Amino acid sequence: MAAATEPPESDVVIIGAGAIGLSTAYYLLQRNVSVTIIDQGTLQDRCSFGNAGLVAPSHFIPLASPGVIAKGLKWMLNPESPFYIHPRLDLNLLKWLWKFRHFATMEYVVRHRGPLLEMLSLTLKLFQEMKTPDPASFEFRQHGLLMLIEQEQNRKELDLLYRTAQELNVPAKWLSQAEIRELDPNLQTDCPAGLYFPEDAHIEPGKFLREMSTYLQKQGVKIIENTLVHKIRREGSHITGVDTAAGFVPAKSIVLATGAWTPRLTRELSVDVPIQPAKGYSLTLPAPENLFHTPLILTETKVAVTPFQERLRFAGTLEFAGINLSINPRRVEAIRKAARRYLKNIPEDALQQATIWAGLRPCTPDGLPILGRIPEHPNVIIAAGHAMLGISLSTGSGLLAAQLVTEETPAINLEPFRVMRFK
Ligand SMILES: Cc1cc2nc3c(=O)[nH]c(=O)nc-3n(C[C@H](O)[C@H](O)[C@H](O)COP(=O)(O)OP(=O)(O)OC[C@H]3O[C@@H](n4cnc5c(N)ncnc54)[C@H](O)[C@@H]3O)c2cc1C
Repeated sequence: MAAATEPPESDVVIIGAGAIGLSTAYYLLQRNVSVTIIDQGTLQDRCSFGNAGLVAPSHFIPLASPGVIAKGLKWMLNPESPFYIHPRLDLNLLKWLWKFRHFATMEYVVRHRGPLLEMLSLTLKLFQEMKTPDPASFEFRQHGLLMLIEQEQNRKELDLLYRTAQELNVPAKWLSQAEIRELDPNLQTDCPAGLYFPEDAHIEPGKFLREMSTYLQKQGVKIIENTLVHKIRREGSHITGVDTAAGFVPAKSIVLATGAWTPRLTRELSVDVPIQPAKGYSLTLPAPENLFHTPLILTETKVAVTPFQERLRFAGTLEFAGINLSINPRRVEAIRKAARRYLKNIPEDALQQATIWAGLRPCTPDGLPILGRIPEHPNVIIAAGHAMLGISLSTGSGLLAAQLVTEETPAINLEPFRVMRFK
């Protein structure tokens, strides 16, 4: 990738080269807008790199939903649970939790699930329609998603999801153990049942970032890595460009696709963007022989399992511990335990030698991403806060952010995602 030798002249500077930043560049390119992308790190540092890669319209219930708080408090006491808040006196975290509590009601779930589903469906459609780069190059496949339950009595964990799927016409079906065997004979499990979403898809997210970056650069997009944007420069309310570790980069518009780091830049623009980093881990191993082809959620443990062409990935844990990528071995071990409990043919040595990765999910308190213009600085667009859905919402967010830049009518109503909704 290009090094910052001299300030490039582009119409738009995108800060952040994750799934959202690259997708935004992709749709700006289609609109003949010149783009420079700047990222403070390298590929592996991005949350978009080592995640489970699910493109999952089934995930239309926002994280903030009834029952989540009670369950979270219970989990806090268990060092191997999938959820943890590192106790500390952080005013922004406390304010975030207060807001989350406000949104975790049925009223908000009903209000938010429609817009979320619309954006999830748009993203899936855009992946299906993509010609270049070839989606096969990043393993785009539509093999559904199976949410396994370990015990029959835990069907109720998925009841709200199943009922709402029926209401919203999202295809979903309960499968018995025999039907699971029929769906995917290589899937060896004792689980009694699973909720199956046949239309969900997945990608290999690291390959997506690589293929997209290569394609964009071939088409003239400049990508500058290892370069921190430390300040957004302004004249009055008009933003003129960004100050980076390698100098000033001018721009007519700026897109903040900065994931979990977004508040660091928006603070100085006096905008309250309540995004908290929620760390998650993934374990990636070489694909065992006769690997199943259906992505899974191990429901009780909240672990996602994605079979790729040559590898198998387990991903989970939601740890609110600030901007901190350290690895907690107990929680990694909890993911291994889940793998052993639900699946019968995963070799133990491969599980032990798996590559471990951590990423920071950018979480908003209402479970919707932030996608819109900053009213006081109209040439700055925020496209961040995608929490556990940044791949499932990637191409959709990219298209919508590009449409905001070019002042087209957006493909869907962006009102529920506006920047100032947390005031
Ligand atoms: C374990 C795990 C599993 C997951 N599984 C899934 C899944 O199956 N499906 C799904 O949809 N989502 C999943 N997610 C969530 C998904 O990974 C994120 O929502 C998504 O990657 C966010 O993308 P992004 O582009 O906003 O952020 P990122 O990929 O983090 O990119 C933001 C980039 O901006 C850069 N940046 C920030 N500030 C600056 C600055 N000042 N200067 C320069 N650069 C800057 C950062 O360094 C970073 O590279 C998972 C997450 C985790 C942790």
